[in-house]
Amino acid sequence: MIKQISVDERILSANDLAAAENRALLHQHSVHMVNVMAAPGSGKTCLLLAAIRGLKDQVRVGVIEGDIASDIDTVKMRQEGVPAVQINTGGGCHLDALQVRKALEQLPLDEIDLLFVENVGNLICPVGFDLGETTRMAIASIPEGDDKPLKYPSIFHKVDALVISKIDLLPYIAFDLPEYRRLVASIQPELRVFETSVVTGEGISAWVDWLRTLKA
Ligand code: MG
Ligand code: ZN
Repeated sequence: MIKQISVDERILSANDLAAAENRALLHQHSVHMVNVMAAPGSGKTCLLLAAIRGLKDQVRVGVIEGDIASDIDTVKMRQEGVPAVQINTGGGCHLDALQVRKALEQLPLDEIDLLFVENVGNLICPVGFDLGETTRMAIASIPEGDDKPLKYPSIFHKVDALVISKIDLLPYIAFDLPEYRRLVASIQPELRVFETSVVTGEGISAWVDWLRTLKA
């Protein structure tokens, strides 16, 4: 009997194959890849810059920047002295493993310990595409509102760590942080959560200490 395969399933299995190859390549070069997913404006790039500054002396960092257009975030990363490659999806709302493969080919993998992939700003489909990463991280900011775990439970279910950003804005925004954390814990009780602000520096060192423990 011939199994009927939908177009979606075929795209996903091609992606899964490429992701497995990426994972093997990264392992071979002792690179730990972190897939960073978040909505636009969550502060991904600012947080990654803070992580780069905190890690730079002990951990060699690299960055793959995924955006629909432009290379402004890649320019910022290179100004910090880290190897960075831009992927422009040309309208695509997520990165896939084949795009990441092309970026990996342009990076000096033997000079990188921790490789961040800044995925396209979107809470929905990026989480459905394995890129070959070892760790998945979500960033959610206070201005996005405290209802996101209710509206987009999948991402909170599938990541290894959640960074709550812009907590310095809590006094100005109706955001029930204890309730938010309760919702997140109801989706994934074991999820590691960091509360951070790049403005005050609060929580950054705890998060960077955890990033330092990630091994290839
Ligand atoms: Mg960015
Ligand atoms: Zn998408």
